[in-house]
Amino acid sequence: MIDFQHVSKRYKGTEQLAVQDATFQVKDGEFVFLVGPSGSGKTTIFKLITKEEPLTGGNIQVNSFDLNRLKHRRVPFYRRTLGVVFQDFRLIQTKTVAENLAFVMKVINIDPYFIDDRVDEVLSWVGMTDKKQRFPHELSGGEQQRVSIARALMNRPEVILADEPTGNLDPELSQDTLQLFDRINRELKTTVLVVTHEKALVDAMNKRVLYLDRGRIVGDRQQGTYEFSGAKGRR
Ligand code: ADP
Repeated sequence: MIDFQHVSKRYKGTEQLAVQDATFQVKDGEFVFLVGPSGSGKTTIFKLITKEEPLTGGNIQVNSFDLNRLKHRRVPFYRRTLGVVFQDFRLIQTKTVAENLAFVMKVINIDPYFIDDRVDEVLSWVGMTDKKQRFPHELSGGEQQRVSIARALMNRPEVILADEPTGNLDPELSQDTLQLFDRINRELKTTVLVVTHEKALVDAMNKRVLYLDRGRIVGDRQQGTYEFSGAKGRR
């Protein structure tokens, strides 16, 4: 669950608010796209949720964690409830696929026996079992994104956050990637929030869409399309 109440964000040294009075809720099990023009605040919202950036005003609650009150030493526990996927995959180039996946559990001291099982499970889930011993540079972009999604699943997150996950993929692979998020959402019951500017994909998926413009949430549609007509404050 993601709950924003009157959230604002001002970066140091800037006058303009990057996010202004944002109030929205993503319930457990929902699939939501966050769309808006470049500079409208999409990445800022993403970074507020991951607690990479502190908020300036308002309240954010995610998966029963109140981010205003979350102590610094608890942040790693909080982040384990999130699975994060980026446009540029962010795989460790010197590690194999299996090692990349195992790493996220090794750092939290999980028993290696369980780690191996979990690696096999998530790789099979994303259809990448046969690439287990490959290095990232031996994989295509689409395959690397699958591995990064498998990595996001390792700790059984309650929420998957994806920032422009198809930005480096061609249209067909982009569609496959979104179908994979859809499957994760339906079969694993994971809440999914995808930041994107891919009109065709948003239109094809028929999901809830949140619209941002100049830092404000200007629309919220169930089964929405990429273009939002009738948005308040639209140019
Ligand atoms: P989007 O992801 O929709 O392109 P961003 O969240 O990256 O938008 O940016 C929203 C606004 O915040 C923009 O005006 C941008 O210039 C500003 N901004 C983003 N990151 C920083 C930063 N680290 N320092 C100062 N301003 C920033």
